Amino acid sequence: MKFDYVIVGAGIAGLCMAERITNVLHKEVLIIEKRSHIGGNLYDCYDENGLLIQAYGPHIFHTNDASVFSYLSTFTTWHEYQHKVLSYVNGEYVPFPVNLCTLSQIFHEPFTKEKAQQYFQKVQQDPQSCKTFEDIAIASVGADLYEMFYKHYTEKQWGMPCKELDASIFSRIPIRLNNDQRYFSDRYQGIPKAGFTAMMKRMLNAKMHILLNTDYQQIKDEISYEKLIYTGPLDAYYDYCYGHLPYRCLRFAFETHDTPSYQQAAVINYPNDYDYTRITEFKKLTGQEHKHTVILKEFPVQEGIQCYPILQPKINAILAQYQRLAEQEKDVIFLGRLANFKYYNIDQIVAEACKCFAQLCEKSDA
Ligand code: UDP
Repeated sequence: MKFDYVIVGAGIAGLCMAERITNVLHKEVLIIEKRSHIGGNLYDCYDENGLLIQAYGPHIFHTNDASVFSYLSTFTTWHEYQHKVLSYVNGEYVPFPVNLCTLSQIFHEPFTKEKAQQYFQKVQQDPQSCKTFEDIAIASVGADLYEMFYKHYTEKQWGMPCKELDASIFSRIPIRLNNDQRYFSDRYQGIPKAGFTAMMKRMLNAKMHILLNTDYQQIKDEISYEKLIYTGPLDAYYDYCYGHLPYRCLRFAFETHDTPSYQQAAVINYPNDYDYTRITEFKKLTGQEHKHTVILKEFPVQEGIQCYPILQPKINAILAQYQRLAEQEKDVIFLGRLANFKYYNIDQIVAEACKCFAQLCEKSDA
């Protein structure tokens, strides 16, 4: 098989590239996808009761990047939704990320901005360094809040001590000295009205040839291309020659309940006490009304569906070796969470894909 453009992976990264290449460059693309469906971990579908469920855990689109929002808005309208999360701590459901309401509820007294500042000044500890999750967490919120909200959730989520994890993971979560209880403060937030899969289906066109249920590694010798856009795991591309890069996996347990509402918020985090990290109730994300409801418990595991690159200072050396190989490739573009080994959000992946496409156009013009 010979195609000018071959894309490995039909997740959002691969599909954005496919959409640009076919619609702007008017070229045909071959997309090779291991799973039986498009959409990667953003895939969602309707269950037997007509409830929209996200098959690989909760995904909420949020961005400050107007160009990313406008690009995706050509394929969908939005259910405008501001994500809110509760955390189950000391037998109570409290707003998370930490804000003034969280502190008031935890300490059973009102907190103003000034009082919170005083509290943090008192408890923040000077870090040895700011390299690890534990260093930065204790330096930011002190030992008590670290223990309540972060330490156990993180060790369960990543399967290792917080002192081995990269500090950037902590930096995803804000600490607020106001009453804003939203999870994200980005300007644009929402869920595609008919779901992420419907949005991604609207990106497809007749110039794309999609091979589902096909492992690129098994057929790569039969395929030739001018450019390969690879969105699978970086280490797999190189046959694990420097060893395995660690990815954290999840096991998903869905439950249908015969009640219109199961819990108080779309997502409730369980830092302590349970083997799952969080429970998502999908209709609270999507705004669907129904007499039933579907919830999802997420159990982090060692093997299974690769969901997260595990960022750790100690694997930076192996990662750098793979990255050096990747940089030498002339005809291969590595894109997305798995191929770049980055903890990207949806908008960052779309922005990266648009940037890659622009570079591809520059090179083909030169
Ligand atoms: N985190 C935590 N406690 C929480 C929620 C998150 O310690 O209640 C930490 C944890 O390490 C997690 C990271 O913050 O992996 C990022 O959380 P986010 O909600 O962005 O995770 P995602 O939705 O990508 O799984």
